[in-house]
Amino acid sequence: MTSLPTSVTLLRHATLADGGRCDVVLNGPVISSLAPAGSVPVTDPEETIDLDGWLLLTAPAEPHAHLDKALSFDLIDPPHGDLGSAIASWTAYAGTMTVDSIVERARAQALAMLANGITAIRTHVDVHPGAPTRGAEALVRVRDELAGLVDIELVALCSTFAGDADIEAALDAGLDLVGGAPHLAEDPAGEVRRLVAVARRRGLGMDLHTDESLDGPVTLDVYARAVRDLPRDRQYSAGHCCRLGTMPPDQLAEMVEEVRLSDIGVIANPITNLYLQGWQHSVAKPRGLTALRELIDAGVRVAAGADNVRDPFNPVGRSDAFETASLLVSAGHLSPAEAWHLVSDGARSVMGLPLAGPRAGARAELLAVRATNLLDAIANAPADRVVIHAGRVVARSALHRSVAVPVLSA
Ligand SMILES: [Zn+2]
Repeated sequence: MTSLPTSVTLLRHATLADGGRCDVVLNGPVISSLAPAGSVPVTDPEETIDLDGWLLLTAPAEPHAHLDKALSFDLIDPPHGDLGSAIASWTAYAGTMTVDSIVERARAQALAMLANGITAIRTHVDVHPGAPTRGAEALVRVRDELAGLVDIELVALCSTFAGDADIEAALDAGLDLVGGAPHLAEDPAGEVRRLVAVARRRGLGMDLHTDESLDGPVTLDVYARAVRDLPRDRQYSAGHCCRLGTMPPDQLAEMVEEVRLSDIGVIANPITNLYLQGWQHSVAKPRGLTALRELIDAGVRVAAGADNVRDPFNPVGRSDAFETASLLVSAGHLSPAEAWHLVSDGARSVMGLPLAGPRAGARAELLAVRATNLLDAIANAPADRVVIHAGRVVARSALHRSVAVPVLSA
């Protein structure tokens, strides 16, 4: 088997998400042109992949991960429960971690995502008063180790107990954005303004957990107004935003307008919020999802991620954007095309990444899967995949399956 990565310059007979078939010519990390299927001659068989029977998509991006928490469930063995229960389990365990132990789990999780086609990851990194730079040191190491295979953005997830000096130390260690969970603070609005001040001082973008409950405080509007006049050469986004899913329509409309005016990207995390929210409801359990339809229809940039994977906040998860897209269809009531946009082009937009996918001039960030169309791919999450990052094949999977043939009587 050829060791990866390998260069690729021509993809033939690909089926696109809109049903069209074409050849795709690559020039290094960029798509140089698309041509009718089968029309581009093969000049280098080693760098050509025939995708007859395959679907070619923009490679997904994970806009909201916690690589420092991932794959810890079996180590912690926490009780199953809501957000408060997960935070308590995680806090009790976190003190035992070393930089090396975080690196091991984070690297394994990033590579699991890459194998499934995710070529860009934004992960939050805990910044706690006792060890403010421990997570940053670990995740910077993982980001640097995997450079050239997957792009990783690091957000400082500032504890409400972390002082400004702790936050500055974590940012100095190499984190890219300012984040936090102001809804957990005694003074949520004050915490938003504190974090915005840090971002302004450091000249960084932001990604806040503005809320993560069905009926708790809302800080998204405070955040939107606080960043409205900040420079636009960086990204501002908000994760979860579950409260938008439980607001009365008139209040929701005002909130959505605040978000739109500040061009804040909203990141939904269906699998984790379907797990964490609604435990106190014995019947008619709410979904814990943000107001996807209203945000999309208002023109807000919306993305979707998996958030936690196999840790106290989410015991399950397959590290696969097709899982998130499937939940957006079934629990979020989006169309397959909308769902895939949220985990691919939409996620890349919210993460501030350049345009990617099978279109001339875009970055060669691609995922090919053996599928007949987009709904087939979302429904079946095919195992057969080719993952291309910056014009090179970085992961390849093939499933061998044998099924007994029934003997039919005449
Ligand atoms: Zn999160």
